Amino acid sequence: MELCRTVDEMRGVSAAARRAGREIGFVPTMGALHAGHASLIDAARRDDGLAVVSIFVNPTQFGPNEDYARYPRDEAGDLALCRAGGVDAVFLPTVEAMYPPGAATRVSVPSLAGRLCGVFRPGHFDGVATVVAKLLHIVTPDRAYFGEKDAQQLAIIRRMARDLDLPVRIVGCPIIREPDGLALSSRNAYLSPAEREQARCISAALRTARSSVSAGERESSRLIAEMTRVITDAGACRIDYVSIVDPDSLEDMPRVESRALAAIAVHIGRTRLIDNMTLG
Ligand code: AMP
Repeated sequence: MELCRTVDEMRGVSAAARRAGREIGFVPTMGALHAGHASLIDAARRDDGLAVVSIFVNPTQFGPNEDYARYPRDEAGDLALCRAGGVDAVFLPTVEAMYPPGAATRVSVPSLAGRLCGVFRPGHFDGVATVVAKLLHIVTPDRAYFGEKDAQQLAIIRRMARDLDLPVRIVGCPIIREPDGLALSSRNAYLSPAEREQARCISAALRTARSSVSAGERESSRLIAEMTRVITDAGACRIDYVSIVDPDSLEDMPRVESRALAAIAVHIGRTRLIDNMTLG
């Protein structure tokens, strides 16, 4: 497994793969890797000749009062997971390598970035779109793999790739969950045992909505009220949003007539968690 710490090293590995006629699959991450990341790596390994993972805690996607400084970092553990997963190359750039002095360009998809999490994390998705655009230019993958766990991020990256004619296929991969339903997340490490117990309410709320839709409920307002009740019943949680939206435009859907996305963002103690499920 090759370790690339500079942009030039990464470009060199990708160029050599291309010369050898190998397709490149790419999994961008912020590290603290878990089975959710591993599922993306598996997909890249299955479909592509060269599997590349990037590990970069991107400062421009964190707000001033967010968890950039304390975000979990475990390079040795991450590299072990990559090695075990059969990754061919890992790109571990420094902040200075990604944002040299004077870096000023931003990529923005305002119509999608202003919704859902964007309301509570202003600027977050500009940071995401910018760093992913840069990574795609550096790694030059044929396919890039993203988790449906971050459904808004996935919608924004798809739109960015389409709007900028990026020569890459964006592949969405299913959410990997704990046995009790909690979506795997690097931020789950922040939860105390009591908070971990409370966090079950998020996926439970989504499952409740899904069952109600299967039983014939179509009114989003009633489904949202039901999900909100499941979360508030679980105790000390602060809700950012409980929404039902179109998965591509992220616009609110008053009724679930076609495929809809139920999406939730909740604070459990000091930890902000997101999750979603398709309905209908
Ligand atoms: P992160 O390291 O949190 O930036 O995530 C890197 C990639 O892994 C993103 O495309 C995420 O959507 C994806 N991911 C994170 N958690 C999960 C999960 N539980 N299941 C599937 N994909 C995930």
